[in-house]
Amino acid sequence: MIKNKQKFTFLLLITLLSLFVSNISSSSAETEKDMCKAIFSDADIISDKFENPPHYKIYSIDKKTKKETLIGIAFFTTDLAPDIYGYGGKIKILVGVDSSNSIVGTKLIAHSETPSFTKNFPTFLEQFKGKNISEKFTLGEDIDGITGATISCSGVTNSIKESLIPIKTLLLNTAPENNKKKTTNKPFVMITIPIFIFLLGSASFFLKKTYLSKITMLLSLIFLGLLTNCMLSTSHFSGLLLLNIPSFEHNTITCILLLLTITSCIILGRVYCCNICPFAAIQEMIFNISKKAGIKPKNINKGLDYKFQKTKYVILFALLFCSILFKKSYIGAIEPYITFFSLMGSKAAWLLLSFVLFSSVFYFRFWCRFFCPTGAFLGLISKFNFLGFRLSKDSKDCSNVCPVRAIKYTDKNIAKINGSECILCQKCSTFCK
Ligand code: SF4
Ligand code: SF4
Repeated sequence: MIKNKQKFTFLLLITLLSLFVSNISSSSAETEKDMCKAIFSDADIISDKFENPPHYKIYSIDKKTKKETLIGIAFFTTDLAPDIYGYGGKIKILVGVDSSNSIVGTKLIAHSETPSFTKNFPTFLEQFKGKNISEKFTLGEDIDGITGATISCSGVTNSIKESLIPIKTLLLNTAPENNKKKTTNKPFVMITIPIFIFLLGSASFFLKKTYLSKITMLLSLIFLGLLTNCMLSTSHFSGLLLLNIPSFEHNTITCILLLLTITSCIILGRVYCCNICPFAAIQEMIFNISKKAGIKPKNINKGLDYKFQKTKYVILFALLFCSILFKKSYIGAIEPYITFFSLMGSKAAWLLLSFVLFSSVFYFRFWCRFFCPTGAFLGLISKFNFLGFRLSKDSKDCSNVCPVRAIKYTDKNIAKINGSECILCQKCSTFCK
């Protein structure tokens, strides 16, 4: 009966998500040449695409003399800077440069970002208009970002900046820039801080020091949640499955996070969910403060709890299926923490966030336990970790101390930890010694 219900939920989710995607991905037969006209409205002739660097030449024709005049060039950032990604994948932008070497317009053509992140992109892209191609194009200096969408804005700015390197050589007849300028901001910080956070998180596990775990949570909340808005999402995993591999140089923090998270899952288990994920800190804070304020936590029947845990796997597979089917990795980015930390989202996203935060008052890590597709993905990798928690055969009955019900009994009544659900909180090890 339950199995049938799960199958039904799975099919329903896939259908709903497919409908959602088919609505937002209206197919367009517009060619690149047609797109160029959106920027150069007075264009009469658009050349075929030139190579080295890939670009189009735009001409106007004098009505009286019939003379052709070159009025500018247009190019697509994905042709010139293909390894620069935003939050969810590549961002294709059309850029037009006029004969005085100034940007006359930019247009967002394709992307894999969360729609709420790109809502303000038209205003953001307006900043590039009128800038000479020799300017700096640096986020935070001559380009202002959008609060909460730092990684997407950085992807756009860096891809335009990087694309302009060969364009400058073409238009200004300057020598090719051999040494690519680094377009990433503070790469040292972006590498060292996530590594430090992960080391601290793992140390809390090995040394069995819960206070270290709390410090890690706080650091991570500040750095990954509030300062960089960089948290793992299902869209990152669907991007990997779609072979959208982000370049390390331009997506340093995302690459480091993915690498450390997947490696730690294989070795220890869900270290990321234990104390790195900023939304875990938010949920725990709400739960603990509510408890201290006298609000009694609610309990879900053990059997029902085990069944509800499976919901997140259904959501994960539905999202991965739709992402791969429609080749859009951002479909996976439904997590409420994206809305929470970016302060951007549709009405549905805000509604989901409010529901999750409200439920976190009564249930420990409500989103993590039942719905988080990212947690489900990490759970699948962690299932066979080789250094995570194990219970000895003479352990006391510690299944009731596990706040996420990761301990189950086998047919022979032996307690076993389910590596997919365990968030390495150490409560059982403290209880059983
Ligand atoms: S389950 Fe999801 S929200 Fe919870 S800690 Fe893991 S990634 Fe974060
Ligand atoms: S109490 Fe549960 S979640 Fe915490 S370490 Fe033990 S099995 Fe894992």
